[in-house]
Amino acid sequence: MSDNQAAKKRIVFCDFDGTITMNDNIIAIIKHFNPDGWERIAEQTIAQELSIKDGVGQLFRLLPASIQKEVIEFGISNARIREGFADFLSFCKEQDIAFYVTSGGIDFFVYPILEPFGIPQDHIYCNGSDFSGEVIEILWPNPCDEHCGNDCGMCKTTIMRRFPADQYERIIIGDSVTDFEGAKLADVVYSRSHLTAKCKELGLPHHEYETFHDIIHEMNAERTISK
Ligand SMILES: [Mg+2]
Ligand SMILES: [Zn+2]
Repeated sequence: MSDNQAAKKRIVFCDFDGTITMNDNIIAIIKHFNPDGWERIAEQTIAQELSIKDGVGQLFRLLPASIQKEVIEFGISNARIREGFADFLSFCKEQDIAFYVTSGGIDFFVYPILEPFGIPQDHIYCNGSDFSGEVIEILWPNPCDEHCGNDCGMCKTTIMRRFPADQYERIIIGDSVTDFEGAKLADVVYSRSHLTAKCKELGLPHHEYETFHDIIHEMNAERTISK
């Protein structure tokens, strides 16, 4: 590692659904409440005929705001945390690595699920929600900047660009195609599932993981090699 690189601060951008949690919470919620027409919207979103923002917005508008309590309870109780997550947060503290959650998930499940882990609120980026109308309305406080035309909803690359590559070693952890644009910007990519397939397809260097212990192990190994 050059002196220049050694001086950079390491920063982790970590996905939430399917990364910190074992499964995708949005799909789990919609499947559970099973409103008419959700499959078609989900298919169109996966096929990229709808943007993530349009797809997720439309899916939640299928649910009446009156079932707020049930939706929130299900969203929180259904989630399982991936092995090693708490240890990884401790590791980041020890190693002075900044840790941010960049999630396309929704505030009403992201914040409560992360609550036990003591991550500062301003290190968690996700979408918002409004239950005051007839149906559940998703809010988008983190839109794409002028460099991104994907209508992400919660734009991961917009967040990453706030931490310039000349000052930060940017590390991304993710699992899906929606993490790929961020992976292209990052110095180091930890991938599983669809993100691994996409990295392989397009020849982007990446480390595969199943648990956060795998990531700790790999980060320690890289430090040893670079000394
Ligand atoms: Mg994910
Ligand atoms: Zn974007």
